[in-house]
Amino acid sequence: MKIRVIGGGLAGPEAALQAASRGHLVDLYEMRPHRSTEAHQTADFAELVCSNSLKSESEHSAPWLLKQEMRVAGSFLLAEADACAVPAGHALAVDRVAFSARVAQRLEQHPLITIHREEVLTLDSDADLTILASGPLTSRPLTDALQAITGADHLAFYDSISPIVDASTIDMDKVYFAARWDKGSADYINCPFTKDEYDAFLDALTSAETVAPKSWEHLPTATNPGAPSQTAPSFEVGSPETRPSEKLNYFEGCLPIEETARRGRDTLRFGPMKPAGLTNPKTGRWPYAAVQLRSENLRADSYNLVGFQNHLKFGEQARILRMIPGLEHATFLRYGQIHRNTYLHAPSLLTETLQLRARPDLLIAGQLSGVEGYTESIASGMLAGIYAAQLADGQTPDPAPRASAHGSLIHYITHAEGKKFQPANITFDLLPALEEDLRKRIRDKKERHRLQCERALAAWQKWLPVPVEAAVS
Ligand SMILES: Cc1cc2nc3c(=O)[nH]c(=O)nc-3n(C[C@H](O)[C@H](O)[C@H](O)COP(=O)(O)OP(=O)(O)OC[C@H]3O[C@@H](n4cnc5c(N)ncnc54)[C@H](O)[C@@H]3O)c2cc1C
Repeated sequence: MKIRVIGGGLAGPEAALQAASRGHLVDLYEMRPHRSTEAHQTADFAELVCSNSLKSESEHSAPWLLKQEMRVAGSFLLAEADACAVPAGHALAVDRVAFSARVAQRLEQHPLITIHREEVLTLDSDADLTILASGPLTSRPLTDALQAITGADHLAFYDSISPIVDASTIDMDKVYFAARWDKGSADYINCPFTKDEYDAFLDALTSAETVAPKSWEHLPTATNPGAPSQTAPSFEVGSPETRPSEKLNYFEGCLPIEETARRGRDTLRFGPMKPAGLTNPKTGRWPYAAVQLRSENLRADSYNLVGFQNHLKFGEQARILRMIPGLEHATFLRYGQIHRNTYLHAPSLLTETLQLRARPDLLIAGQLSGVEGYTESIASGMLAGIYAAQLADGQTPDPAPRASAHGSLIHYITHAEGKKFQPANITFDLLPALEEDLRKRIRDKKERHRLQCERALAAWQKWLPVPVEAAVS
């Protein structure tokens, strides 16, 4: 049975490789370079559109658990990420160019995968099974086609990109390398602020000119059953024509810095500019505030301003970011941006095996399914590929176990309370709590997490379908 995969980002290639490695013919569709999105800059498969981090590798953290499960299950993209990791303290960060190249090679060399560089416009059942992994920037005709099938409304909000600075233009006399709390290797460059510098920066930031929403940012069919938390600006319902005063609908986990700054003079110092644990070797003390820079590649010739996504005009960014100590003469290779982000209302639309209730031959993977983040998108692509292969073999797929990180993530998106639904990263909150007697006995949070991880990995191992061809060959 043939499986069609739409989307060559993160979830799509993983799904394609999983299904093909189980002996199924796969047609993989990617619209770039003929048509691009607002955020992609290349025609590459598995392009990381913003940060180059696949999050924490700290043992017994929730992102670590998800990655461990993926490694055990033979995730192809995670194996490639591991193979081109760059130093990033206790996080897994990758050289994005090498990562894309390795994924492309895998796809191109697989005898059962045929690559089609074209935009898919419809979701007619001309394939036996389809995995839709067209991401948060799914093209408009396909969004409309999906809307026609689900009969339900999408959600829409804005997501964001951090600026990147040319390493050779950083004033290294003013900054210092350190890992927070000395955890992991000291791979981050820290730009320390005094109180006066911070105050001046904050004043400039909160009074800077922002970019007006563009026409493509107005999803015509968007309503907002899952409005973000009450503190976030809301997205008004209606057609673009009837929404003259539309406000941006930011995802709380990815707020632009100017928006965070407006929430209080210390909010940035407790968020992306947190100085705690960043001892400056020159003073032996923590600075008043700090901006952290993370290497973009192994050559360390460019650095990402961690958590500095923003919606300011480029000229304003150049002016304000150069107020950061050490970046006075910096050249920015990319400025921050805010983009449309589309995802399904998974609790009402998706089954635990990622099938659309209204069209069980259509599986949804990646950010579009309601998971949030690179790793989570790859993870859901892996599950969709496994489930599609099982369906193609005439089997009824068995959902990932609830105790595992994968099972918890998918359980959350398919069972979340409808009105509050937002895309989810993997966190311990999503995993089932330990039994009551254990909870009472074990007060230490780290120990509880360790036990949750142990339980998750055991359940995951037990559930794993038959082994596939080795992920790393
Ligand atoms: C601006 C932005 C910044 C983000 N930054 C981060 C970050 O820093 N860290 C993080 O963990 N997550 C981030 N995310 C969230 C998320 O992890 C990424 O969007 C991730 O790439 C999602 O993976 P995906 O496979 O679902 O979609 P994508 O990686 O976007 O892949 C979807 C692919 O489908 C293609 N496509 C779309 N429509 C069609 C069509 N009709 N026909 C054929 N192909 C089509 C697209 O060209 C794209 O290549 C960000 C998201 C956005 C939008």
